Amino acid sequence: MRIVESFLIRNPCYAAGRKITVKGLMLHSVGCPQPRASAFLRSWNRESYKKACVHGFIDALDGRVYQTLPWDYRGWHCGSGKNGSGNDSYIGVEMCEPSCISYVGGAAFRVADGKLDEARDCVKRAYQAAVELFAMLCKEFGLDSLADGVVISHAEGHKSGIASNHGDPEHLWRQLGLAYTMDGFRKEVRAAVGGVSAGMGGYTRVMGKAVASVGQMRAYLKEKNPEVAQSVLDMVPLYISEGEAEGVRGDVAFAQSCLETGNFTFTGSAVTVGQNNFCGMGVASNGVKGNSFDTPQLGIRAQVQHLKAYASKGELENACVDPRFRYVVRGCAEYVEWLGQKENPDRKGWAAGKGYGGKILGILDRISGITDAVGHKEEFKPYRVRVSIPDLNIRRGPGTNHVESGRYTGVGIFTVIEEADGVGASRWGLLKAYREQRDGWISLDYAEKV
Ligand SMILES: [Zn+2]
Repeated sequence: MRIVESFLIRNPCYAAGRKITVKGLMLHSVGCPQPRASAFLRSWNRESYKKACVHGFIDALDGRVYQTLPWDYRGWHCGSGKNGSGNDSYIGVEMCEPSCISYVGGAAFRVADGKLDEARDCVKRAYQAAVELFAMLCKEFGLDSLADGVVISHAEGHKSGIASNHGDPEHLWRQLGLAYTMDGFRKEVRAAVGGVSAGMGGYTRVMGKAVASVGQMRAYLKEKNPEVAQSVLDMVPLYISEGEAEGVRGDVAFAQSCLETGNFTFTGSAVTVGQNNFCGMGVASNGVKGNSFDTPQLGIRAQVQHLKAYASKGELENACVDPRFRYVVRGCAEYVEWLGQKENPDRKGWAAGKGYGGKILGILDRISGITDAVGHKEEFKPYRVRVSIPDLNIRRGPGTNHVESGRYTGVGIFTVIEEADGVGASRWGLLKAYREQRDGWISLDYAEKV
């Protein structure tokens, strides 16, 4: 992302010089078919331009950010009077819009014939730059993009009563058939803030180093499929080694295999264990047998390579054994969440079913929650703790890299039924109330044994 400082020094808003305490960031789009930020810089940088002023424009052709006000100046980006109180605490940034659309009344627009891809490219470019800019601003002002009301759209601002009645920018994504949402945007901003390959509550990258260990993956399999064949347990390390060879997260591939094969029971699956196809490759419809591979290693290698095709534009390290590699639009699903076509902004991806990536992540979460030492769980004696702070976060997994559940313990006595190591605390405890789904963990640093 490149930021070009171009303050609108002649605009009366800049001249007023009022300062704010930045509490949030508001995303806008300009609402007219003008992709060039420079056009706005020219027309808004005038003493006679009293209508509006924002903190920045994102050019839809080159993705550059033009900063038009110091970030802590009060802008005029979301209305006036009581209905525009967002101006008092939000930075406002405008994304420019494609030139090949024409508004036909209100927020409705038409796309010029044959220009849909061009329009989408403009919007995607501005969106990506907005993710990076908002991540930078979150860092600078200590904001959590996933916290309530911190990163919002103009449309959301109106719904919560702090902005004028506009539909931007969701109107743009919706009408162009892009799967972008403000919830997705907030998650991507969070992921960008962490610069992470996994978690932080944001999207999870397919590329990167495995987080789960071979021991955890085997333990998960034994738990889910007590009859699991030794030959299957023996091949688990291949997920890690084949993943590392291509820079793909082997634990993601393994979780995907668990999903595709019914935890290697192959019940309800079109493929059989002897095919060495653990990801449903080539099973385009029910009853189709799918691809076969000579060895488990080659089957897993093909799966890893296929994941790499989706998640990156990088060259393969090993010779290509994935028979379907060439059919993939390279790099169209950087995140596990986007492997599902329904959630993918381009409607591309590995599988058509709703929530496909989410299901893989659900499995991955369970795997990561398993204590490595098998048998440890049986020996563990539940104990009670006192929590003395009212707002101790309950997370879905052991570690600050797991999503907050949105719930808090409150002050009181709680029973811990399992412990685990995880980032952000010396030790994490699973609360008894969450024993079914194993998705309620607290930092034991804030709990005292009673
Ligand atoms: Zn707006």
